[in-house]
Amino acid sequence: MSIFDLTGRTAVITGGNGGIGLGIAQALNAQGCNVSIWGRNGDKNKSAAATMSAGPGRVHTQICDVTDPASVKAAMKATLDTFGRVDGCFANAGIGGGGRRAFIDRTEEEWRKMFATNLDGVFHVFQAAARHMTERAEAGDKFGRLVATSSLASLFGTARNEHYAGTKAALNALCRALAVELARYGVTANAILPGWIKSDMTSGLMANDKFVANVMPRIPLRRFGEPGDFGGIAVYIMSQASSYHTADCFVIDGGYTAF
Ligand code: NDP
Repeated sequence: MSIFDLTGRTAVITGGNGGIGLGIAQALNAQGCNVSIWGRNGDKNKSAAATMSAGPGRVHTQICDVTDPASVKAAMKATLDTFGRVDGCFANAGIGGGGRRAFIDRTEEEWRKMFATNLDGVFHVFQAAARHMTERAEAGDKFGRLVATSSLASLFGTARNEHYAGTKAALNALCRALAVELARYGVTANAILPGWIKSDMTSGLMANDKFVANVMPRIPLRRFGEPGDFGGIAVYIMSQASSYHTADCFVIDGGYTAF
């Protein structure tokens, strides 16, 4: 049996109904993993589920708004009712900067909305997953994977997008702290830092010739990333192969940070 066989495992992927989250869900499912896709839009959830190959892994969808703790609690209950366990939690749902502006003009509302989704949302989702994983570990079943989708913005100075960068840098620290705290339960915690990836979030930017002309020469692999480029890292993290790998920040950026 391959060390990357995920048969019998279950993963939650927030924002799994599109973009990077869907790339992760598809790759996990193709390795036999049950996947539970959480997103706010039920139709999008269903369309995403329809893209999964019919394999040993089952697919469940759940309407969930990660900013709402009650919604997350209900989604975790529904997932556990469906699969009986959650082995991996990919806290991937996030929103982008949406119209950059000078810091001195940043509104309270923009700041709060960003943190409510990109940071508070991960807190709600990780806490629900960690409660389940630690409970299972106490009963002798020590396996868990917490994964946050962070961003290169957590490393670079991203002018006029400081609220987004702030949430993502916090995720790196959150993962490191959880890696230390939850290690004794067999739970690892890692962050994935995507570079420039084609998705709904970036479609406006990538349709802008000036942006493309500026950024592309700085990407050694000379292409923007695709959601499917995140399948390999997700399968690795979910598998036994990563059992000694925790507290890391995986940069998946086509070499952008090398410049
Ligand atoms: P998309 O816009 O394609 O995906 C975002 C997903 O998040 C959607 O599935 C959306 O589903 C979900 N979502 C947003 N808000 C909520 C919410 N409150 N509750 C539940 N789900 C929510 O963008 P990407 O795939 O690009 O983004 C995925 C992650 O990757 C984000 O965290 C983003 O910050 C990060 N990232 C992306 C980069 C890129 O270049 N694309 C670069 C670096 C990081 P729905 O609308 O149905 O709720």
